[in-house]
Amino acid sequence: MLKKFKFCPNCQNKLKKVKKRLVECSNCGFHFYFNPVPTCALILENEKEEILLVKRKYPPKKGFWDLPGGFIDFKETVEGGLKREIKEELAIEIEKINYFGNYIGFYSYKGINYQPLCFFYTAKIKDDQIKKIKTGDDANKFKFFPKNKIPWKRLSFIDIKAALKDYVKIV
Ligand SMILES: [Zn+2]
Repeated sequence: MLKKFKFCPNCQNKLKKVKKRLVECSNCGFHFYFNPVPTCALILENEKEEILLVKRKYPPKKGFWDLPGGFIDFKETVEGGLKREIKEELAIEIEKINYFGNYIGFYSYKGINYQPLCFFYTAKIKDDQIKKIKTGDDANKFKFFPKNKIPWKRLSFIDIKAALKDYVKIV
């Protein structure tokens, strides 16, 4: 992956690969480590115990079903990032979330293969709160799916699929 990082952003000298995930500039000493990227996702269940999925509006995986969530921002905890994402994507506030587990993903965007490390949480939503959901940001619609009707072949990412597979097994 670091093959694509050819020039030093500091001095424009050629970068040298030092280790599998590290490039270095021999001119100015710039170092760049390519690390996993923390992300978050919410498994949100309605009163019928169906799971909410959102349809992705933008690449990668445009048109595929996804869990609400996204990238953790700077100065944000995982829980803080998740609550912000839920507000941005669904226009609702979720107070009580429970940690479920973390899964390794794969996210290819504009020529770079990122490796998300996704933290999954679960929550419940009441019918009256569902009425307040308005999809915005990077989702264009949402739907609750019964656990035996999850669209496995139209799910966005491997970490989403793995977490949901484990989730429907245990609940
Ligand atoms: Zn340099």
